[in-house]
Amino acid sequence: MTGAGRGPTASQNGRRILLLVGPVGAGKGTQAVAMSAELGLVHLASGNLFRQALRDGSELGERARAYMERGDLVPDDITIGMFMEKLAAPAASKGAILDGFPRTVTQAQALDATLAGRGQRIERVISIEVPIEELVARVAGRRVCPACGTPYHLSGEAPSIPGLCDRDGTPLMQRDDDRSDVVRARLAKQVAPMLEVLEHYDRAGIVHRVDGTLPIPAVTRAILDELTDAADR
Ligand code: AMP
Repeated sequence: MTGAGRGPTASQNGRRILLLVGPVGAGKGTQAVAMSAELGLVHLASGNLFRQALRDGSELGERARAYMERGDLVPDDITIGMFMEKLAAPAASKGAILDGFPRTVTQAQALDATLAGRGQRIERVISIEVPIEELVARVAGRRVCPACGTPYHLSGEAPSIPGLCDRDGTPLMQRDDDRSDVVRARLAKQVAPMLEVLEHYDRAGIVHRVDGTLPIPAVTRAILDELTDAADR
């Protein structure tokens, strides 16, 4: 895709802030990685940042642990502090693709205020839309190699020997919060605040909805086309 980065909305103090919204399993992470490569922007995923904090055994990780294990949202004050620090880091100087944050209107207002203080704003909010039952099936089928981190999926991207990593033969695992009962609980808790965040940005007229049931490359294309069109408008 050429043309990304052009146009009046593309440069706010040279920074592009894009937001990807979608419930667990909608493919936000996959699309964020593709967009990050295409647009040269850092991918900031709040869930990954919290999991990293847990692995590091940091104080932040310990504060977030119980909420994450229950599939609950981490309280806004903890989340906002953590995310703003990452957004202010040099890695995000050209801008960022935000994935998983903001997830509540309070977080969205805190983000908007911080950006406004720097003469910036969110350029576009991309909502990846997928029906709930498909989301549960998608997430519950995920597996990961605990040794090398290679992701698999029981339908489509299954390992050649069931249950074992193709690279190193390690037995594959399911993340605790990917079990279908936990996924349903996460969706039940997360969909309502997510819709409120979308309404918040709908009022600013910057939301674009993409059909997340399309094949992955088609979703990527739809997103990048929209960003180019929006920048050219
Ligand atoms: P994810 O990988 O995006 O599903 O996030 C994993 C977990 O991290 C969530 O279930 C929450 O407990 C926590 N989390 C991630 N992002 C946020 C956020 N913006 N606000 C509150 N909690 C979050």
